[in-house]
Amino acid sequence: MSLSQLALEIKESPTLALNEKARLLREKGEAVVHLGAGEPKSKVPIDAILSCAAKLTTGEIRYTPTDGIPGLIKAIVRYTEENYNKIIGPENVIVHAGAKQAIYNLMMSLLNPQDEVIILAPYWVSYPEIVKMLYGKPVIVKPEDGRFHPRMKDILAAVGSYTKAIIVNSPNNPSGAVYSADFIAEIVEYCEKKGIYLIFDDIYHKLVFENKSAPPCYQFAKDQSDQSRLIVVNGVSKMYAMTGFRIGWTVANTKITKTMINVAAQNTSCPSIVMQSAAAGALGGVQSGVDALRLTLENNRNIMMTELSAFNGIRCIKPDGTFYCLPDFSAYEKSSSKLSAFLLEKALVVTVPGVEFGMEGHLRLSYCGTVKEIKEGIARIKWALDPESPNEIYIGDRKMRRDWK
Ligand code: PMP
Repeated sequence: MSLSQLALEIKESPTLALNEKARLLREKGEAVVHLGAGEPKSKVPIDAILSCAAKLTTGEIRYTPTDGIPGLIKAIVRYTEENYNKIIGPENVIVHAGAKQAIYNLMMSLLNPQDEVIILAPYWVSYPEIVKMLYGKPVIVKPEDGRFHPRMKDILAAVGSYTKAIIVNSPNNPSGAVYSADFIAEIVEYCEKKGIYLIFDDIYHKLVFENKSAPPCYQFAKDQSDQSRLIVVNGVSKMYAMTGFRIGWTVANTKITKTMINVAAQNTSCPSIVMQSAAAGALGGVQSGVDALRLTLENNRNIMMTELSAFNGIRCIKPDGTFYCLPDFSAYEKSSSKLSAFLLEKALVVTVPGVEFGMEGHLRLSYCGTVKEIKEGIARIKWALDPESPNEIYIGDRKMRRDWK
């Protein structure tokens, strides 16, 4: 069967595939612990629900302008001013069906075939695939010092005449690292000087611990004109636990925004008005849920670190934000895919192989679940990997036997 060569080369989303595997196992009654999840478990803010329900009950659910409903755009303009101290206008904003689609529409608007996009490892799994889907070339830059913080010297070595854009994601999925102000200042200055598009994926920027914050790019931008090549991506998925609503947005200069509107007009027309109403409700409503989520995640992070620190041979850099960490398991197994599959089969724990994020030998573990899940998940991993463990344990009401070395 003849299919698109390009589409055939796009990898299955490993995180979504693992979610599906976990769902099927749970359906069969297996006591799966999911440390692979990419979504907080808190409730959607009531203001989002009310706003969404109010829209639904009008019974008039129609197309919206492609850039989004005015109420949501206004809320995003205000959000940008309040959180970044950056004044923008509605002409700088477009709402997309999730931050993922925002990045897709953005790349579609920026890239010519063969253009290169610099992606900093460890990176979110979708960046390279999106770039490839648009005939661009992902160029992966990995810090060789084993840390998760990018270094300017590695980035400079990777920039060439085809470099079109650099993507920065801090707080970072999968490592939880928050990049330093010095680094953000340096990369903003460099990209302004070189005319390279600099994309900040800020989807986790409110989920930073210990009263710290992620240094925002605008703070260091000298070019405040409408020629600026700085683009910020955000959305409601993580900070409001609204992954199912599929609303994200971009803030960019008017030319990029107009181009994205044309692209979006031809692929989705607009995100659903019901979901846009929910997002406007969340952004305009009481924000205490975001603080509560951050505190819960910080507590979960601390528990995860305590559990991992009692695990021989595991090295883990403490994350400053998000709800992920990326411990190094290479002392036990070099292939993270093998290890992840082994842990799912033998201990019924879902983890995501680090190789998917450009960090072989590591596993991404989420701590957005319950404390019980975190403790149980790590205990099971320890049981499966540590040769000193007892031979048998109970998982749910199933007796599991250790029949491997
Ligand atoms: N960027 C990063 C770094 C992410 O981790 C995710 C979600 N996993 C997204 C973007 C996409 O989020 P959304 O649900 O808004 O599409």
